[in-house]
Amino acid sequence: MDKACEFCGARFWIEERTGGSVRQPAYTKCCAGGKVAIPRICSPPDFLAMLRDVRNGGLRKNIRSYNAAFAFTSTRVQSIGFELGPGVHTYRVHGGYYHMIGGMELEDGQIPRFLQAYVYDAANEVQNRQLRNPNFSQVTLMAIRDILGRYNPYVRVFERAADRLVTHPTEEVRVVLTVTRNHNS
Ligand SMILES: [Zn+2]
Repeated sequence: MDKACEFCGARFWIEERTGGSVRQPAYTKCCAGGKVAIPRICSPPDFLAMLRDVRNGGLRKNIRSYNAAFAFTSTRVQSIGFELGPGVHTYRVHGGYYHMIGGMELEDGQIPRFLQAYVYDAANEVQNRQLRNPNFSQVTLMAIRDILGRYNPYVRVFERAADRLVTHPTEEVRVVLTVTRNHNS
């Protein structure tokens, strides 16, 4: 794609020209020869820009690990098989597929994980996640956690439970998750 529309800058291959010549191609599939005003794409929010930043190769390389680090649950299956031949690796499940939320109780000496990571030792949450995977960047962990805290309603519920544990340490705290079944679940 080394050619561009002279009006909107859309990128094309030479074979996609709708007029002109090889030396002076014309393209109309994008903006109809400048008749359609296409607004410029806005700059992404800082966090998304960080994800796209080529210098942040560590995040891209470990994106699945970062995703798992912030998961509320782990997955369990009854029977599993892997197809590791040429082509796309296949993950084959037989029987039930579950999301396990695990215990709320943290055993002595255990580093909080999954749901526990949001509730226990919240002041050191990022450091605890990094303990589980020393390859994680603290800056990236903090950025992801900040986004989740702002936009994920469940994280806010767990934050309230964490606050309650700090301000009322002897009180029993319960988080009740109610599942409403519908035709999509
Ligand atoms: Zn154009």
